[in-house]
Amino acid sequence: MSKRSSATSSRTPAEPRPGESFADLLARVRACTVCAPYLPNPPKPILRASPTARLLIVGQAPGRRVFETGIPWNDPSGDQLRLWLGMTRDQFYDESRIAIVPTGFCYPGTVHGSDLPPRPECAPLWHPVLRAAMPDIQLTLLIGAYAQAYYLGKRRGRTLTDTVAAWRDFAPDFLPLPHPSPRNRAWLKRNPWFETEVLPSLRKRVGDALRASDNDAATG
Ligand code: SF4
Repeated sequence: MSKRSSATSSRTPAEPRPGESFADLLARVRACTVCAPYLPNPPKPILRASPTARLLIVGQAPGRRVFETGIPWNDPSGDQLRLWLGMTRDQFYDESRIAIVPTGFCYPGTVHGSDLPPRPECAPLWHPVLRAAMPDIQLTLLIGAYAQAYYLGKRRGRTLTDTVAAWRDFAPDFLPLPHPSPRNRAWLKRNPWFETEVLPSLRKRVGDALRASDNDAATG
């Protein structure tokens, strides 16, 4: 069997466990070893989530710097994403409001200097149970092609650009975005409508989703 082949055939998918606390669910995720034979390091799932989160950010998979620090989006891509969102680090990492759950939780390694894709086992295994445990999510940001493929399936466009250009079609639940990697600067230059049309809507919709949690706190 190749090192990149699927591991799901020999494992039982994670099942929701009635009555399980969110902390116990997270502990179960963090103990996951399903892809251990296919990862360059021991499994180290990197995600942030809470049952009160209103915004869900679904990216790709940890890169090396995120793997080393254990903090998602703790890299130049994260800096760019926070600029797009108009958020400080403190706001971005408030997991009572914002869940950060990538398509693959563990660092998949690199080949020829490029990050490998997220492990294909991860999203089908863990996203449904985590998503079900976060009932207040108002908006899900789908960052990059892997997140869009998993959540939009056949609804996504032929290319990432097509999917992002059709961003209005996925409201109110989803907003597809390109990856904010510095490597994507050329994409941003070629597609100026992203900054003029999508970013203002992104900030408004994120603000609306999070403002709802402020209202809850004020009236709760
Ligand atoms: S990538 Fe996901 S499924 Fe694979 S070991 Fe890590 S947490 Fe488990």
